[in-house]
Amino acid sequence: MPSTGIGRGDRRRATVREPSRLAVARCRTRSVRTPRPPERRGPRPPPSRHGAALSARSPVPICHAVTRWPTAVVFDAFAHEVPYLVSPFTFRTSPRSAIPGPARPLWAPRGSRLRATRSATPGSAPPRAPGPGRRAGTSVSYEAGWFTSIYPFISRQESAVTQVKQQATSTEILNHVFRFRRLIAGPDGGCAEKPCEACRAPHEKKVQKFLDAGEPLHFVIPAFPAKSPNGQKTLGALPDMGERLALEFLQSFCDHLSHYHAPGARVTICSDGHVFADVVGVTDEDATSYRSELEAMVRSFNGSSIGFYALADAYDSTDYDVIRDELMAKYAESLESLKHRATQDEQVRGMFNGIHRFMFEDRLAVSEGKSRSKIREEAKPIAWEVIRRSNAWSRLVAETYPDALRLSIHPQPVHSEKIGFHLVRTRDRWLTPWHGVALETGDGMFLTKRAHAEELKASLVWRGDRPSHFVAPHLTLQEVMS
Ligand SMILES: [Zn+2]
Repeated sequence: MPSTGIGRGDRRRATVREPSRLAVARCRTRSVRTPRPPERRGPRPPPSRHGAALSARSPVPICHAVTRWPTAVVFDAFAHEVPYLVSPFTFRTSPRSAIPGPARPLWAPRGSRLRATRSATPGSAPPRAPGPGRRAGTSVSYEAGWFTSIYPFISRQESAVTQVKQQATSTEILNHVFRFRRLIAGPDGGCAEKPCEACRAPHEKKVQKFLDAGEPLHFVIPAFPAKSPNGQKTLGALPDMGERLALEFLQSFCDHLSHYHAPGARVTICSDGHVFADVVGVTDEDATSYRSELEAMVRSFNGSSIGFYALADAYDSTDYDVIRDELMAKYAESLESLKHRATQDEQVRGMFNGIHRFMFEDRLAVSEGKSRSKIREEAKPIAWEVIRRSNAWSRLVAETYPDALRLSIHPQPVHSEKIGFHLVRTRDRWLTPWHGVALETGDGMFLTKRAHAEELKASLVWRGDRPSHFVAPHLTLQEVMS
């Protein structure tokens, strides 16, 4: 296949014409067409409004305004440094290009004008005799069918470029998500500062799926169960400023992701209050009221990216004793198996320690007259049961939302399947809005325990008829976090 170029002299002789409607239509066809030899081609289209007759050896535009592609490849035999077409499956840079080398398809905006050179026909005369600095020119293909015959090639090129773009986007998306990672204590190998490929690997396919489908990224987070009944930590049974900050953060988080992926993101809060309310000393009524208030909060700031899912939604029932049993019968692991795993798996052990601390603190506040060691012992079976139920709920959530990216309110290792996630700034990697209060310092909001806010001599603020949060305008974030 000849690969010679066209000299500048040819440019003056180049005649340009509008493509026929048929040609444009064929350009838009994805089917592969084999070009007919010139002698079998039909009558040539009439001269265009530009008045130029089609020359067998002149370059012509073969298609205008290809609008069905997001990008289009431009072929132009005359433009310097622009690749042009010499065979149905090859791109070459112009021999006169200042940058010789392999094919360099040029990506142009939607609606760009497409040009190509006429394909060389065996036995046909070259457009002009080769001369100094000039080689036998390749003839030009006007047939749109000829163009569409290379479409699979272009398509592959385009898809490769799209794939590279999407990989870059999924990396950007995950790096953004990891900015809020809640990691377990201990060395992280620098991943906290700069997430590595292994950090992203468990989530990349899921992100890619949403990118490919052009759909909003979907996150699930089992969280927002109910307020801790521990009066040392919280201000009451209903959501307050801590929850409001967390929910508004989730909405902002989804808004920010639309910067990287236009459809944005959505978060489903898989509220687990009714899953273990009876174990942690919360009534089902309190868990229900807590959920209702959360929904009202989300409505109040038009948090359209936030949805809810709970045990009652999963089983379409509010007979909580019954549906808890159903959940555990189908999804729960035995206590023996869980305890055995804890002896083998540091992560399970870490989870137990974290939950046990919460249970101990909560019981400490309501168990007057008992020794700390006795309360600590009593909290152990409760912690195991909370983990069993939590894990059962996690399995149901995973089954319900298999494609969603899984966030966790608990700290996770750097290369985990779940992404530990901070909702509000805090110095305690286990603290959540439902185990604490919001404290507004002179320079920002901070999540802490009620007792700590009171130690700092912060003042309680009421919103409506309920305590909302603490303020300490005389302090800085650095001072309260230290
Ligand atoms: Zn890593």
